[in-house]
Amino acid sequence: MNYQQLADKIKIWGQELGFQKVGICDIDLSEHEAQLQKWLDDGFHGEMDWMARHGMMRARPAELLPGTVRVISVRMDYLPPQAQFASNLADPTQAYISRYALGRDYHKLVRNQLKKLGQKIEQEVSQLGYRPFVDSAPILERPLAEKAGLGWSGKHSLILDKDAGSWFFLGELLVDIPLPVDEPSSNECGKCKACITSCPTNAIVADGVVDARRCISYLTIEYDGVIPEEFRRAMGNRIYGCDDCQLVCPWNRFAAVTQQPDFHRRETLGNADLVELFEWDEATFLHNMQGSAIRRIGHIQWLRNLAIAMGNAPYSPRIVQALTDRLGLNEMLDQHIVWALAEQQQQIPHTSTQTERLIRIVQKGLPRDA
Ligand code: SF4
Ligand code: SF4
Repeated sequence: MNYQQLADKIKIWGQELGFQKVGICDIDLSEHEAQLQKWLDDGFHGEMDWMARHGMMRARPAELLPGTVRVISVRMDYLPPQAQFASNLADPTQAYISRYALGRDYHKLVRNQLKKLGQKIEQEVSQLGYRPFVDSAPILERPLAEKAGLGWSGKHSLILDKDAGSWFFLGELLVDIPLPVDEPSSNECGKCKACITSCPTNAIVADGVVDARRCISYLTIEYDGVIPEEFRRAMGNRIYGCDDCQLVCPWNRFAAVTQQPDFHRRETLGNADLVELFEWDEATFLHNMQGSAIRRIGHIQWLRNLAIAMGNAPYSPRIVQALTDRLGLNEMLDQHIVWALAEQQQQIPHTSTQTERLIRIVQKGLPRDA
């Protein structure tokens, strides 16, 4: 078997299957184990207990699929056209939803395409063990992507590509054949610290280290409890995820709009008026979010996030009415509604200087079509 020829073919097949970049690496992540352990010991994973439960397995792909010797790492761009970053963030009556979540859930699509890639390789070799992974699996996908040459790990901990920025999903195909590996990319962050200084909640506690407990993405998506008050104003109108550290990253000037229509903004999120979204009952939420990653947080968490954004919006009798009408539905939600009502009454101008700065930067012209 000529593995070099096979590796070349894998890259072509990957592109045909909708991946913008494909790289191959070995499975030695030992240099990341101490870092991962420290991150867990510091409690930076918050309540994502599965991360601690899987422990070092995340750094040892062969424990997931015995016999694994290589990982094929892939990138799929998701930046939707007309993403309206600046106008959504700047309007406190509108909800800001992380750009990756505006369209269909990516997990199934990326996993299916990875599976097809595995099937294609299988046709070329006499025997192949393979398994696809997408996000949330117990695997260190970013260090693997870095090793495979898909980009470098930025100070915000995401993978960045010189020609494509960071608006992309990652996926991995574990295989048990000794394909030739690719060169890792060099780190091009240099002296830039834009993501660190722009983070609304100071969640990037060191270069490449995010304390998830402070991160708006974690708080709005992964965390289902009472959001600490210290973060609520800084959350502004971000109701599902946060893109600030990517928005300010200079390399995202080079990001291309996705070729995948599934990732375009869905119609039901075309109007992001906070009150209208808050007025969705559970059946409407489940219906409108069918096929979306947002559906997984559930209706109560959705309302919780919106309640905080409504507390941060300028005073409006319509907001006060909508919040009041929701009281009594759920105890945890009530705590956020009561806070939001108090904020509404105080009419405190909440646009933080950090947010104003971010909006100025974004308005200077970040990614095309944004
Ligand atoms: S996603 Fe938002 S809150 Fe989280 S690290 Fe990036 S800028 Fe900070
Ligand atoms: S904003 Fe600057 S420091 Fe942060 S990831 Fe981008 S280039 Fe690196």
